[in-house]
Amino acid sequence: MKQISDFPKLSLGVLPTPLYKLENLSREYGKNIYIKRDDLTGVALGGNKTRKLEFLLADAQAKGVDVVLTAGGPQSNHAMLTAACASRLGMKAILVLKKRGELTGGNLILDEIYGADVRFVDTDTYDDVYAEMERIMDELRQQGHTPYFIPVGGSVPLGSLGYVNCAKEIAQQAEALGVQFTSMVSATGSGGTYAGLTYGAKLFLPGTRSVGVGVCDDPFEDIAAELMEGLQELMESDVAATREDIFMKFEIGPGYAIPSPEGCAAVRKLARSEGILVDPVYTGKALAGFFRLLDEGFFEGEENLLFVHTGGAGALFAVEMLPEE
Ligand SMILES: *Cc1c(COP(=O)(O)O)cnc(C)c1O
Repeated sequence: MKQISDFPKLSLGVLPTPLYKLENLSREYGKNIYIKRDDLTGVALGGNKTRKLEFLLADAQAKGVDVVLTAGGPQSNHAMLTAACASRLGMKAILVLKKRGELTGGNLILDEIYGADVRFVDTDTYDDVYAEMERIMDELRQQGHTPYFIPVGGSVPLGSLGYVNCAKEIAQQAEALGVQFTSMVSATGSGGTYAGLTYGAKLFLPGTRSVGVGVCDDPFEDIAAELMEGLQELMESDVAATREDIFMKFEIGPGYAIPSPEGCAAVRKLARSEGILVDPVYTGKALAGFFRLLDEGFFEGEENLLFVHTGGAGALFAVEMLPEE
């Protein structure tokens, strides 16, 4: 079996991120509720994609890449962080974004600040976005460039390895604190974070159930299972994660990137109780799902729970919150 340290990795983030107890929420729910602050990964406004990019861009660098291409929605945190990290490494970033109406602000402001070349494809499907990326890459190769393709969310096994690494970090922090988490909850979009955390829990956090809260209606069980198989292969490991390791709940509301009353309530609740910001697209909905599971007794008999905050602050300045009820 390979160790994580056997893979080329850049040090892009400021790690480890803090992990500590949320006193007010713990009191309210009668459980020890902890938070892993991956909204503080240290690049741009923080967020989970930095950990994936540490491995993906190390691979790109080893291949002599000078242009990185990635895809996403118009407010993609992943695309923005790719632009931020690529620029620091002296690589150009081309962000091919799936257009949906006239969105401005938020991460699009940061994309410009980081010097990204942003292109919009007016479509509803990623097939069209990927076709356009193929076309751009052909063009770049003809001009003598070496492009590198990163799919939506950086969710390939090598990117997910960043979250296997995070699970290892959580294990070390839990040990230092003397706590054993029975469950950890995270937001799921393209699946790479959840796959990494869940496979990482198999390796480093035995006894910790990994619960994913889906914020878009993709078949996450299939995607996560496939990515975990990919991780096992990548790490040449005997440890297999199976369907039984996957606990996926959904908290989509009216649709991906459309604020829900529950998600907005969760944004306000965490801000006012603990001073921490989550966003209405990913982490607010994930937190709403976590609160729902707490209310439903899903964690019955469990004492120590962990919420993995994956970032997303940019959306707060691009997506309008629903008024307080
Ligand atoms: C991308 C993203 C997620 C989901 O991560 P995936 O690996 O795509 O499932 C969660 N939270 C935030 C803020 C994100 O940007």
